Amino acid sequence: MTTTASLSKRKFDVVIVGAGGSGMRASLQLARAGLKVAVLSKVFPTRSHTVAAQGGVSASLGNMSEDSWEYHFYDTVKGSDWLGDQDAIEFMCREAPKVVYELEHFGMPFDRNPDGTIYQRPFGGHTANYGEKPVQRACAAADRTGHAMLHTLYQANVSAKTTFFVEWMALDLIRDASGDVVGVTALEMETGDTYVLEAKTVLLATGGAGRIFQSSTNAFINTGDGLGMAARAGIALQDMEFWQFHPTGVAGAGVLLTEGCRGEGAILLNSNGERFMERYAPTLKDLAPRDFVSRCMGQEILEGRGCGPNKDYIHMKLDHLGADTIHKRLPSVYEIGVNFANVDVTREPIPVVPTIHYQMGGIPTNIHGQVVERFNGEDRPVNGLYAVGECSCVSVHGANRLGTNSLLDLLVFGKAAGNHIIANVNPKQEHKDLPKDAADKTLARLARLDSAKNGEYAQDVANDMRAIMQTHAGVFRSQESMDAGVQKINALRERVGAIGLKDNSKVFNTARIEALEVENLMEAAQATMTSAAARKECRGAHLVRDYEHDVNHPTCPLGRNDAEWMKHTLWYQDGNKLDYKPVRMKPLTAETVPPKPRTF
Ligand SMILES: Cc1cc2nc3c(=O)[nH]c(=O)nc-3n(C[C@H](O)[C@H](O)[C@H](O)COP(=O)(O)OP(=O)(O)OC[C@H]3O[C@@H](n4cnc5c(N)ncnc54)[C@H](O)[C@@H]3O)c2cc1C
Repeated sequence: MTTTASLSKRKFDVVIVGAGGSGMRASLQLARAGLKVAVLSKVFPTRSHTVAAQGGVSASLGNMSEDSWEYHFYDTVKGSDWLGDQDAIEFMCREAPKVVYELEHFGMPFDRNPDGTIYQRPFGGHTANYGEKPVQRACAAADRTGHAMLHTLYQANVSAKTTFFVEWMALDLIRDASGDVVGVTALEMETGDTYVLEAKTVLLATGGAGRIFQSSTNAFINTGDGLGMAARAGIALQDMEFWQFHPTGVAGAGVLLTEGCRGEGAILLNSNGERFMERYAPTLKDLAPRDFVSRCMGQEILEGRGCGPNKDYIHMKLDHLGADTIHKRLPSVYEIGVNFANVDVTREPIPVVPTIHYQMGGIPTNIHGQVVERFNGEDRPVNGLYAVGECSCVSVHGANRLGTNSLLDLLVFGKAAGNHIIANVNPKQEHKDLPKDAADKTLARLARLDSAKNGEYAQDVANDMRAIMQTHAGVFRSQESMDAGVQKINALRERVGAIGLKDNSKVFNTARIEALEVENLMEAAQATMTSAAARKECRGAHLVRDYEHDVNHPTCPLGRNDAEWMKHTLWYQDGNKLDYKPVRMKPLTAETVPPKPRTF
């Protein structure tokens, strides 16, 4: 029988789980400082989901229109519907120009203006002069910004001699008796062997869990593994009710068409050929934030003005931009149109629908990337554990993320976590002792899967989970539907526990990996459904029909109820319990942006 004692063990100063933009920005910092770092990834690093990012990375460089970090800060607070922590938002917006220029110096092939400066395009919710007009803040490499960024970071890491463990899946965090994190258990996919990786610090950078939904712009590997690992180790997941629907997924296919389309001037039309966003958002129009645009599209469809035979999608029109601009600035959008919708966007409109895209919630951290737990009403860092990127919640995105603020978040907090780890990890110091039962829980999970020969097929359970989430936690939510969703997801946990493997072979057993991923999806889905049903207001992406109000309602504009609900949700796996903590309203140096109705 395999036991913790019989497993192979390896020791590092730092283990980073995830080789997307956030993990590789952190690893670069650490490798350059000479720490012994291992970066684990389920896929080759440059296949991480960051590679799919299209539109850009935000920074108030002001290359093409007047801009300042204060405007960026204001937009992000307002975009977050006042759920974002203002100290973290200030830190991110002030650091933005610095980290973007650093990326340029690592070799990032940004598009250029005639004067040689970085090209910047407008993006949803980004404005000049506190909401007055759209600003050009999204630094872009055509519509392949994430691709360019991930390859740049990978190459910089190779030159800094970072060690990668490719096609390794981290399974569980190891915490000792005092609660410190001292390593992870991991599966080498090629051999099927389980390892204990000891570390003075573990950094989770596992990306989002967008695959809990049926229709998603996310890669198949985005199964929320870091969330599952944290939840099983007793760490809360924060604000998981807030999921972003991107307005322009290709109808029926889910593939993303970047907001950069509308940044370059594309417009949304209903079946009457009306540019309906002018009615809902007179100032920003099609460039209002995503939660807002998705809701307006949904409303048009509900009121019978959807396009197509079933009136169930919206048209995005780009042809007026001209074929030259489309081929130069949006080459992937052109290709996606041809391949996924059989549409030539230089000539005709393309059918789009709001599609799940991004999780605003995640593992709670402070601005140094340290994972925090509640203790005596305060946040207290968990020794030895950090989280950055989409799996974390710092929280800069609050209830709704602005486009291009995620790539920025990866750079700013990846670097900040790297620096904090360098200041706190001593390469000369011994590792803490490993608990005797370090891998027992992982081994029990693996053994159960292997023994349940007649158990359910993982993908059947996952498909049912996705259908439940799509129905009960969509763009428009209702209390009744969310309550029913909670019951269904709770019942599904039993089925997840009964998943089995028909084939126990060790070498590249993808069925085993998928089954382990479904266990992680379960944590993300239950956190989402439970947190959503408990939040009795509308805020950002959480729109509950029961609580909707007029924008001029005296205390709850648009159904947002600051008196009772301006607080972060914390979900604990143990007992499926909830707790709350206050939003940090005090920025580092700037003036607080006080809450007000959110109109555009
Ligand atoms: C189609 C698309 C377009 C987007 N466009 C933009 C944009 O233009 N601008 C913007 O700001 N944002 C954009 N976003 C959002 C942004 O790209 C993501 O939020 C961000 O890239 C996530 O980066 P990450 O480093 O957190 O994780 P990811 O890039 O998702 O990487 C996660 C890593 O973790 C690894 N991993 C996961 N689980 C395990 C495990 N158990 N063991 C080992 N390794 C594991 C994976 O292998 C991978 O290497 C877009 C998102 C999508 C889906």
